[in-house]
Amino acid sequence: MARRKTGGGFGIRGIMVDPARQGERHEYYFELLELMAEWGLNTLWWHFADDEGFMLKLRSHPELATPHAFSRTEIRDLIDRAAELGIDVVPEVESLGHGRYITRLRKYRELADGPEIGFNAVCPSHPRTLPLLEEIITEVADLFPSPYFHAGLDEVDLGQCPRCRRRARGRPRWWVYAQHVKAIHKVVRGRGKEMVMWADHVERAPGMLRVLPKDVVLAHWQYRQIRPEPIRRSLKAGFRVVGCPALCRWGNMIAPNDAAYANMNDMTATLAKLRPASAVLGGVNTCWTLWRGLRDAYQPAVAFTGEMFTAGRPVDGRRVMRRFAQTRYGAGAKAGDAIWRLQQAMPTQPEVAAALFDSPTDMFSALELAGRGTLAERADSLASFTADLAEAAAGARDNRAELRALVLAGRVAGLCCGQVDALSRAVERYRRAEDLNELGAGVRMLSGPLREALKVLRAMRRNAATVARAVDREWDRTRYGDDPKKSSFTGRRYSRDALLPKLERHERFLGRLTESMTEALAAHRKGGAFPFGL
Ligand SMILES: [Zn+2]
Repeated sequence: MARRKTGGGFGIRGIMVDPARQGERHEYYFELLELMAEWGLNTLWWHFADDEGFMLKLRSHPELATPHAFSRTEIRDLIDRAAELGIDVVPEVESLGHGRYITRLRKYRELADGPEIGFNAVCPSHPRTLPLLEEIITEVADLFPSPYFHAGLDEVDLGQCPRCRRRARGRPRWWVYAQHVKAIHKVVRGRGKEMVMWADHVERAPGMLRVLPKDVVLAHWQYRQIRPEPIRRSLKAGFRVVGCPALCRWGNMIAPNDAAYANMNDMTATLAKLRPASAVLGGVNTCWTLWRGLRDAYQPAVAFTGEMFTAGRPVDGRRVMRRFAQTRYGAGAKAGDAIWRLQQAMPTQPEVAAALFDSPTDMFSALELAGRGTLAERADSLASFTADLAEAAAGARDNRAELRALVLAGRVAGLCCGQVDALSRAVERYRRAEDLNELGAGVRMLSGPLREALKVLRAMRRNAATVARAVDREWDRTRYGDDPKKSSFTGRRYSRDALLPKLERHERFLGRLTESMTEALAAHRKGGAFPFGL
């Protein structure tokens, strides 16, 4: 299965999903398999273990499972359906970093390595760690019939652990890491599997290529500019590689954007050129941390991935989206064009974070965005694609609710543009009042522009509330309503950038702002001080 297909297509043509971070309703994954098969994909990387969750109820370690975890029977059903469709489900167990699914439990707390916040590890030098990982890996590897087992091993921070430092004693920084990789590799080989691991540590410390077992498959994930050199280095050292772009990552939310599509096509173009071709096993498009996006707004990118990896070269997005709109929704070319252009115009994560401001600092970033005009120039086109899609959704033959998720993505993006624009108008009115005040104008003259500013802010709050309610309904349609990631008010770190909580905090911030301005305006009428509010 690792062989290249004739005609340039990749042997491994995959999607990686992240149920550890965002567990979707179980039936969704079955639907995803159908979509994947329809578009020529043959591999699903199942990233079910990470800091935020462990989505499998193991017999050996049931204590690891988080809410809505798959039972062994459920996961077997998924694997069986995948097999019928020609899709290999590869389990991924983070076997060093991203280890809070283990160390968050009281009984394993002493295994925690690295800082409290950010990257971390299960201490590879603690005597309890390897036996525990061996038990987990053994059960998972035996449950999944795939010839591959993905051991994770990305983004490890061993911090200043005295145990690890004692063990390293003057050797290179990566030595403890490499020793651990070898130990995990032995366990994985012992179950008769080929080991896959993320290649970020190897990219940073190429010296490891000399000591790691050559039968390890290195998964090079690169989500910005593609850097072929580290991948070439792995190939030259005799390793097999998989190239991993991203549909969804920290840099984009709501839906994939132009940068994400460029990343996918660039990775594919790079993989196609690398030699020896037989050691380039294929591509797996990763979909991380989807709580910040709308689940169904990512379906078109799954189709795109299938086209791209089947062709083994970059593909024309507009053409794919037309075919997708036709086969998926029974909608015409106009809908396909709108789907493509909508995604190309999607704001980036920093733009969304600023536009949906929930603090004075973010509000200033929003004003900066307004000044640069980057979002404002997209407002009209976003509105027109969204209208085209809404029309298509009304007349769509199939999967209408899914198509409406794309309409909603357009509305969220449109809200971002609108809020930035409106904020600059409100501030402009406010500044006018300020100027009048400096000129010694009376209360009556000031209150005109101030009331206008307030009116704009109130409209912004209403717009945010309307979209937030729609996103809330979409969450309940597609996800578990009791998922803590739905709400930000638990103070949990991982929900900071989630879409719905972000919208709700934005709405609350605008509420507080309008309240304090209203009060100040009333006080000012009675002779109170100016300036206030903005
Ligand atoms: Zn340690």
